[in-house]
Amino acid sequence: MKGRRSRLLIVGLVGALAIVSVEHVFGQASPSPERRVPPPQSVRLYVFDCGTIHVPDPARFRLKKVEVAATDLSVACYLVVHPKGTLIWDTGAVPDAAWKPTGGPVVVHIVLPDSQQRDVTVRKPLKAQLKEVGYSPTDVTYLALSHYHYDHTANANDFAAATWLVRQLERDTMFAKTPPGVTQPSTYIALRRSRTLILTADDHDVFGDGTVVIKSAPGHTPGHQILYLKLAETGSIVLSGDLYHYPEERTLDRVPTFEFNEGQTRASRRVVEAFLKQTGAQLWIQHDLTANAKLKKAPAYYE
Ligand SMILES: [Zn+2]
Repeated sequence: MKGRRSRLLIVGLVGALAIVSVEHVFGQASPSPERRVPPPQSVRLYVFDCGTIHVPDPARFRLKKVEVAATDLSVACYLVVHPKGTLIWDTGAVPDAAWKPTGGPVVVHIVLPDSQQRDVTVRKPLKAQLKEVGYSPTDVTYLALSHYHYDHTANANDFAAATWLVRQLERDTMFAKTPPGVTQPSTYIALRRSRTLILTADDHDVFGDGTVVIKSAPGHTPGHQILYLKLAETGSIVLSGDLYHYPEERTLDRVPTFEFNEGQTRASRRVVEAFLKQTGAQLWIQHDLTANAKLKKAPAYYE
């Protein structure tokens, strides 16, 4: 009897410990307010290295090898930290769970559901880069993807607790019975149940003060969007999404072969170019390998 009681007691203790440790895990996932990074006074932009896509031939962008300075494409993810909250813009090409960091570059071979294949070099997981600047995915207030292609959605599921800012047509296409080309639906499936804000206006002012504005720029995909940022020191920046991939698409006036709607892409480009002229904002072409290499990467930031 005595022996059994003590065994039960041990079981009870183990159970209690298990509950404590589960609570601890949840506590880590959403840190208590005192552990959270205090919000900055003004808007900050962190640029994360989310890899490099190897492109042997840029023909699908209607460009010849000799016409481009670099054929490979950079992949960047961005965290905007505003006094009122945070926004993650694009989430990479390779899910963190799909590879093991070695401290050096790792090449991941990706086979998409439409059987297209890509080689992507990654160096550091997105969540590790976020952690380095003091955030976990559950701290992030808003998720916005420039669009649904695989090289922008890889870690989207991690941000399912954020409010998703998306256009209706984009969302509908993402969850259609037949997924569109160049997508990896498994990487964003959790967003189906996310708190979602459907953007209807051309401009969506994320924090209400004009410093972080999502702008509609359809064509590459039906609900493709770009991000306008007004930073106190750096000035105004537009993150391009895939309005352009190579700077030469802009200078040589080329539109890729795989647009959802080429005419719409051309129209969006005209609108954005006029906006850049009017505001004097810099255009950061997210996939521009040369330009991206020159950017400060997290933990450094732009403000
Ligand atoms: Zn892309």
